[in-house]
Amino acid sequence: MKLRRDSAFRPDLRVRADFPLLVNNPDLHYLDSAATSQKPKVVLDALRDFYETANANPHRGAYSLSVRATEYYHLARVRIAQFLGVRDSDCLIFTRGTTEGVNLVAGSWGEANVLRGDEIVVTAMDHHANFVPWQILAMKKGAKFRICELTPDGRIDLGHFSGLLNDRTKIVAFNHVSNALGTINPIAEIIRLVREKTDAITVCDGAQSAPHFPVSFDSLGVDFYAFSGHKMLGPMGIGGLIGKREMLEEMPPYQTGGDMIEFVYDDRTTWNVLPHKFEAGTPNAANAVGLAAAVEYLDRIGMDRVLSHERALMSAAQKRLAAIEGLRIYGPPASERSGVVSFTMTDVHPHDLATILDGEGVCIRAGHHCAQPLMRRLDVPATARASFYVYNDESDIDALVSGIMKAREIFGYVPA
Ligand code: PLP
Repeated sequence: MKLRRDSAFRPDLRVRADFPLLVNNPDLHYLDSAATSQKPKVVLDALRDFYETANANPHRGAYSLSVRATEYYHLARVRIAQFLGVRDSDCLIFTRGTTEGVNLVAGSWGEANVLRGDEIVVTAMDHHANFVPWQILAMKKGAKFRICELTPDGRIDLGHFSGLLNDRTKIVAFNHVSNALGTINPIAEIIRLVREKTDAITVCDGAQSAPHFPVSFDSLGVDFYAFSGHKMLGPMGIGGLIGKREMLEEMPPYQTGGDMIEFVYDDRTTWNVLPHKFEAGTPNAANAVGLAAAVEYLDRIGMDRVLSHERALMSAAQKRLAAIEGLRIYGPPASERSGVVSFTMTDVHPHDLATILDGEGVCIRAGHHCAQPLMRRLDVPATARASFYVYNDESDIDALVSGIMKAREIFGYVPA
């Protein structure tokens, strides 16, 4: 079967050769970067370099190797803060990722400030990582847990959102970009409504924004922003929580132990300064260094270029997919979403589709995407999701479309 090409599609980014896993698997079409990204060689080299030239426990030793490890770790924080538009790099707390960042705010600020009768607002498109910690906190504290509904095309219903806000609202949590729909949320408008109607804090899940377009925490206007390194070309097990200094200063520690203390007496303990107050125990210094190499790599490409590359792929993919009979796409138009497309097919379960695509060397995600409340609202148990990043090109879309057509043949699709 001859595949139709989109003649307007001209992505200029050709970086596949920088990614060893993709080079080692030339027939692989990796379309699951919303789950985790592949790693460029510069990141693997940075990890190796740390262990070969600087490995010691940061902040602990009086010897020069430990000082070197401490410097590497510190410079990584400064570099990543710069990438995410944070002038005060001590306000970037290293975590294992977005999940830990959100749990830190819930376990620290939430535990200390939320009272019976208060209200916490989330959205129906939030990932479980930015939903369950708030649900649990609300249950524990006797607070009301309120869920903002979505428009039929998968955006936050701002009318409903505004109606949920009142003087009892203590926390408003939302994602910057939906991992299941790709919707880019209007943060400025969300913040405006929250400020107008409440004194609530805002917690933004940036897991799917930091990797895909320029983000400046200092101009975003949110109080907290959490992100995951592994989704932005960095290693697994490292990410961050950025917060406003005055809030981080006031918050109690989230975990206790080594490094986060100032003085420990028999009957009390005082806390270290930021960022150490929130980084108990030996830090993941090597992975922080790896993530710094990843953001340097992204900076060399340019985040505007990353965005336009994904947009070009997205609009080409969306056009091709929309032309397939029996295929339904969820979420807003390509121009208003990041590089994620979620869809279902008549008569082919997403898991079967993913299995058939796997046989063709195409990796997509099938399931609820850790967004079960959203799936319930879409009235589906699961969707198939293809997601794009810097190393994808039109051949990945060709392989995706051709695999879908094969699945249709196997399952004997009969038009209704
Ligand atoms: N939030 C969103 C929107 C995500 O896509 C993810 C991961 O898929 C997370 C949170 C959780 O990220 P992590 O597992 O890296 O903590």
